[in-house]
Amino acid sequence: MILIRSVEMIGHPTLSQGDILMGGGRILAVEAELSGAEGLPGVQILEETGLLALPGFVDAHVHLCGGGGEGGFATRTPEINVTDLTLAGVTTVVGCLGTDGVTRGLEGLLAKTRALCHVGLNAFMLTGNYRIPVSTLTGSVIRDLALIDRVLGVGEVALSDHRSSQPAFEEFARLAADTRVGAMLAGKAGVLGIHLGDGPRMLELVERTLAETEIPVRHFWPTHMNRNPELFEEAVAYGLRGGRVDFTTCTTPQFIAEGEVPAAAAIKRCLAAGVPIANITLSSDAQGSLPVFDEAGQLTGITVGKPESLFRAVREAVALGVPLEAALRTITANPAEMLGLADVGRLAPQCRGDVVLVRRDTLEIRHVFAEGRWMVEAGVPVVKGLFE
Ligand code: ZN
Repeated sequence: MILIRSVEMIGHPTLSQGDILMGGGRILAVEAELSGAEGLPGVQILEETGLLALPGFVDAHVHLCGGGGEGGFATRTPEINVTDLTLAGVTTVVGCLGTDGVTRGLEGLLAKTRALCHVGLNAFMLTGNYRIPVSTLTGSVIRDLALIDRVLGVGEVALSDHRSSQPAFEEFARLAADTRVGAMLAGKAGVLGIHLGDGPRMLELVERTLAETEIPVRHFWPTHMNRNPELFEEAVAYGLRGGRVDFTTCTTPQFIAEGEVPAAAAIKRCLAAGVPIANITLSSDAQGSLPVFDEAGQLTGITVGKPESLFRAVREAVALGVPLEAALRTITANPAEMLGLADVGRLAPQCRGDVVLVRRDTLEIRHVFAEGRWMVEAGVPVVKGLFE
């Protein structure tokens, strides 16, 4: 058991300061003062001044097995390490495939999610990849969602992008319908993750599906909505109409210079436009490739996105004047609600023991707990993957 003593906190329904007791992988109690808890057998006590406790972060878009490969086999990006996630405060992660559904497979992705769960992380996956018809584990999206506990949805399916399979409306609507029905059978929320490219059609297929079918808007989760100014304006309009919008935090100075709206600025501008905070999420797109081009448009290098960009974007939003509580929701309660995970994204009894402790002044991550296990201690990872 671990007792975090007298800490400021965000994410509890009523308390802003108190003690947090974790045991058996869960948060057991959060009280203004837990008298007598330090006398419990085997309890470890963490008492450090100047800390702020936050719910573990939720990153719903990570290429856990690597991605990329768009510049040939040598540009395939590597698998993620346990510490890439824990040092970033990410305790719940959803993996997906991307452009490459040929040399990367869903079986490997499922194995990777189970390996991350083995060390205490809360790992899930989306079935399919960029293409429609999608690849699946069991022969259909409905069966994958209904029968495999780790599968929370489908994606990322590419629309309005030169790498998309250019699906017809009927194909896309069928996929959305299968996502809904498969999720219903298993009591899941059912997420259809949609990669938006730079093409001018933007959310056209999503809007048409909403207009011509009975499928509720909550299943659609379009991402990369900050990738250019026009798509960002579309995100604001869609968010105002009740859609969920996701902004990607992994970026490069070149992307920003070319018009990408930084995720922090995207939150601020959405709120100013009246988009409810509940409709906004951030995700990292980590382990995806970040190409670097020279002035002639030639590929000169490739880097790999990292999950640490997720909380960095929250810190940047705070620096822009967004209240920490609001900015934090985009990586905790909001994605948890979208994914249908009732036991993450909050600091409350019965929730998973996923807690991030940051310095109150700098918001630097200091301690991370996943499933009640001390993963990062004083900024140092104490649990690593077997081959790190
Ligand atoms: Zn994508």
